[in-house]
Amino acid sequence: MVTPTTPSTPSPPSTPSTPSPSPTPPTPPTPPTLSEAELLRLAGSVPDPELPVLTLEELGVLRAVHVGSAGSVEVELTPTYTGCPAVEAMSSDIERVLREHGVREISVHTVLTPAWSTDDISPEGRRKLRESGIAPPRATRAPAPAPVPLTLGPTRTITGAPDTEPLRCPRCGSADTELLSRFSSTACKALRRCLSCREPFDHFKEL
Ligand SMILES: [Zn+2]
Repeated sequence: MVTPTTPSTPSPPSTPSTPSPSPTPPTPPTPPTLSEAELLRLAGSVPDPELPVLTLEELGVLRAVHVGSAGSVEVELTPTYTGCPAVEAMSSDIERVLREHGVREISVHTVLTPAWSTDDISPEGRRKLRESGIAPPRATRAPAPAPVPLTLGPTRTITGAPDTEPLRCPRCGSADTELLSRFSSTACKALRRCLSCREPFDHFKEL
């Protein structure tokens, strides 16, 4: 029999009786100096204004965060689709989050090269897209040559080009789908229908 009630553990008396041997320097009231990695994580946690299931980090649009000598923070952002108005919203959301963490001077720059590609969407981002009923984009370039899994088989078959990867229904996984409309709720998505489960779904188009 498990009793769910846990008695509140008596916390030890935390009286600061021990005098500190060295005088602690007063913490400056100025904003905490977060590292570039911490700032990058904060900016990357901002949800994408068009696809809020994804963070900017998962979308792969956040290129870099630099801290200047005067504590100003410079954020480099790559727009997804050309003419995508989301960059403005992304910039103001990033500025708001960083301001909440004590950063006073923020400048968000758009970086156009290298251009963003749907290949920049992280595996976690692809999983979230699928979970929200959106078929993630297929790989457009060959993957980086680094992590090639070695298959110990008798023959070595040459795999096809990466664009032969079938587009799968995010609900049932069937590759038997048809295009209904090249544009869905946003220009970056197409509307398709699964021929197995008959459900329409959005496809995040490859770029
Ligand atoms: Zn289906």
